[in-house]
Parts: sequence; C-alpha cells; structure tokens
Amino acid sequence: MRKKGSQKEYDLVVIGGGPSGMMMAGRAAELGARVLLLEKNKDLGKKLRITGGGRCNITNAEFNVREFLNNFPESKNFLFSPFSKFSSKDTFDFFEKKGLPLVVESRKRAFPESQKAEHVFKLLERYVRSNGGEIKTDSQVVKMSKESGKIKSIETKKGEKYFAKNFAIATGGASAQWTGSTGDGFKWLEKLGHKIKEANPNLVPLTTNEKWIHKLSGLTLSFMKISFIQDEKVKFKKTGKILFTHFGVSGPLIINSAFEAKKLLKKGKVFASIDIFPDTEESDLDKRVLKLFENNKNKSLKNILPEMLLKNLAKEILNLPDINMAEKQANSVTKEERKKLVKKMKDLRFEITGTLGLDKAIITDGGIILEEVDFKNMTSKKYPNLYLLGDVLNVNRPSGGFSLQLCWTTGHVAGSDVGEKIKEE
Ligand SMILES: Cc1cc2nc3c(=O)[nH]c(=O)nc-3n(C[C@H](O)[C@H](O)[C@H](O)COP(=O)(O)OP(=O)(O)OC[C@H]3O[C@@H](n4cnc5c(N)ncnc54)[C@H](O)[C@@H]3O)c2cc1C
Repeated sequence: MRKKGSQKEYDLVVIGGGPSGMMMAGRAAELGARVLLLEKNKDLGKKLRITGGGRCNITNAEFNVREFLNNFPESKNFLFSPFSKFSSKDTFDFFEKKGLPLVVESRKRAFPESQKAEHVFKLLERYVRSNGGEIKTDSQVVKMSKESGKIKSIETKKGEKYFAKNFAIATGGASAQWTGSTGDGFKWLEKLGHKIKEANPNLVPLTTNEKWIHKLSGLTLSFMKISFIQDEKVKFKKTGKILFTHFGVSGPLIINSAFEAKKLLKKGKVFASIDIFPDTEESDLDKRVLKLFENNKNKSLKNILPEMLLKNLAKEILNLPDINMAEKQANSVTKEERKKLVKKMKDLRFEITGTLGLDKAIITDGGIILEEVDFKNMTSKKYPNLYLLGDVLNVNRPSGGFSLQLCWTTGHVAGSDVGEKIKEE
C-alpha cells in the first residue's frame, strides 16, 4: 500500500494553477497521487475568476460529443478521444455533485447558478486540498530539466528544486498576460524540442481606421448580419450582435470572427459589410423608406431617419461622404439618392485593419502542435511523463464555454492517467 507523502518525490508536479491545472491536480490527488501544484501568482485561478465577466461560462451544454466538437474545426479529430472520456455532460455532473448547480442560457452556454466565477475557483481549490494535494503559490517555475527522454525536475525563481515522476504544463496561453499567462510553457516546450505555433491573439475584437465607427463607440446593434469581403467576394458571414468601440467592433459575433478574419488579412485587404436590415429585402426596405419620405416631405433626413434606425447610427450614415444627405429634405431626394441610401443600409462597409493585441484577447491562437501530443492521456509524444493541458494546446475554438471545457477535459483525463500509472506501481 502506497503512503501519501512518505517520500520527497512527488507523483505529479503541476505547473500553473488555472482551471486545467487545478482539475488535473485534484483528480490525480483524488486517485491517491502525491501532488504538488505550483502557481506563480499569489492566488490560484486569476483568469478563471474573470471569465464570463465574473459569471464564468463554465461549459457548453451540447451533450452530443460529436456536435460539441464541431466547434473545434481544426482539432476535432484529435480531441475526440479525451472528450469521449470527459465531456460537457461529465462537467455538469462533476460540478453539480460537488454542490455547484449549473444553469443553461442562450446558445447552450452554462453558468454556475450562483453566477459567480469565484465559486468555481473555490470548489476547485477545495478539490485539490481536500484530496491531499499540496499547493504552493508565489512559486514561479523558471527551469525544466530532462534526462533520458523524461522530465526530471523543475526549479522555481526562489531556487527550490522539485523532482517528480510526472509533470504537467498548465501555464495557459499568452492572452490577458496580467493574469499570469505569459506563455512560459511555450518557451520550455520549444527548448525541449517541441514545435510551437507562435502565440497570436484569438477571440479578440477587430480594429478599423474608419472614424464614423469610432464615433459610434458604445452602440450595440442586435440581429445584424456581417459579411467579410475580400476581392469583392463574400468569404464568410455571421448574424448576431455588434458592439461599436473607439477602435473598431467587438461583441461575441465579432470576436468569433477574428480567427477567420486574420487568415484573410494575411492574404490582402478585408472589408466588413453590415446589413442593418437582414430580414428585409432591399426592394421592401426601399418601399419603407419611400413611405417614410412621403409622410415627412418637408423634413430633413437627419430628423426622420431615426424613425427607422438608432439616432446616432442614422446620423453617421447620412454624413458618410458618399451619402451626405443629413440636411436634405425628404421631398428633394432623388430616386437614385434614395436607392443609394437603402443600399448603404444593407451594405454598410468598412475596412478591417487588424485585431487588438494579446492583452485584450480571450484566448491565444497558437501553442503546441497537436501532432506532438498523445491525446489518449494528454502527454507529450516526446516525453511520456510530461502532460500538456488547456490553453497550452494549439486549439482554435469559439466563445461559449468551449475554452473552459477544454481545460476540464484535458485536466481530468490527464489526472486520471496519473492515477492509473500509480495503481500499476
Ligand atoms: C477576459 C476573459 C474571459 C474569459 N471568459 C471565458 C468564459 O466565460 N468561458 C470560457 O470557456 N473561457 C473563457 N475564457 C478563456 C479561459 O479563461 C481560458 O481558456 C482558461 O483560463 C485557460 O485555462 P488554463 O488552465 O489553460 O490556463 P490559465 O487560466 O491561463 O492559467 C495558467 C496559470 O499558470 C500560471 N503560470 C504561468 N506561468 C507560470 C510559471 N512559470 N510558474 C508557475 N505558474 C505559472 C499563471 O499564473 C496562471 O495562473 C476567458 C478568458 C479571458 C481572458
């Protein structure tokens, strides 16, 4: 019978106290492993505590694994194995059995019923500690050493050295670096001979130089259609809510377009085109505008268009250089001018210049190349005692709880694997 803490050597040292690291540490400790979790911040889970605006979109309640994985277009084949062992349904059971009921909102996004990310963090910290896992905060790992194809030890900034049978890199990606995710894991993995896709911002707002967009900062348009255009061809389109900002556009619809928009930007200029009336045909919209003009013959357009559009938006559209009709009276608008205005409302175009940086990104586009990971147990294919979790992996996915589910799945599968290993000893 193995005794916990009977030796200095740990069964598992997890580097990084984010959601994936806590899940793995807790799971391995639950199965009897001697676990040490090292976190460089003063507290665990700094990023976890700001997820979902502090409410924590903990997972997505799509319980069909294949359907769920359709949200991971480039990596679904890799992820099928771990997700068939620990899915979003298992996440529901895991948290609810531990006293944290979840509720499902629009787009199947699941949140704690308490609406508090803090409760998710506390539950996980308890999961680690109550199973005998050791936690050391204020412990920044600065070095990882290997020997004979295995990871042998790690060292912290304070000079403490830890030996273990297994190690896990759960240091996150490189987004929102002030939370502690500064891409350290990527540097170690590169040194260890792994291929890393460079860290770029993903799930991030888009920028434009168009002043009229900046002037609309704070305005939200619901149920808009936005098309992304290159070389006069629509490359992809989405429908939803758009938030105008002082640098460009944001909101779930936009941040979920960033990955594809960036790919297009590498090839050339990209334009976004907003259809403000996606459910109305151009000819029907023209009839509505005509009626509006006929009912308000002697009024200027700047005073009557707000009957159809939000006032600020109407103002900016009427002041666009190719429209320039704010002061025009309805009865002096020509048919061509009216049709041009209608067209503009169906195709409000502006150039996308790029994205905001890693500091404003939800996740990182980049990480360890998936071909180098054994997804049966989440280990490195080069170092069988090195586990790779959560945002360290090069996995593109949308917002909606998919990122945290990736952490719960990879953390749980990896922790279970360590449990299996020690059972065999
Ligand atoms: C504003 C914001 C909101 C988000 N909201 C959601 C949401 O609602 N739902 C969702 O699914 N996803 C959300 N995400 C994404 C989600 O937070 C991440 O995918 C998730 O936190 C990744 O977890 P992780 O365990 O891989 O890494 P992280 O959470 O990044 O944790 C890594 C930990 O490792 C520590 N660390 C790093 N280097 C070292 C080192 N050298 N030594 C010791 N420790 C180290 C860090 O300090 C950090 O605590 C959001 C992200 C942001 C930025």
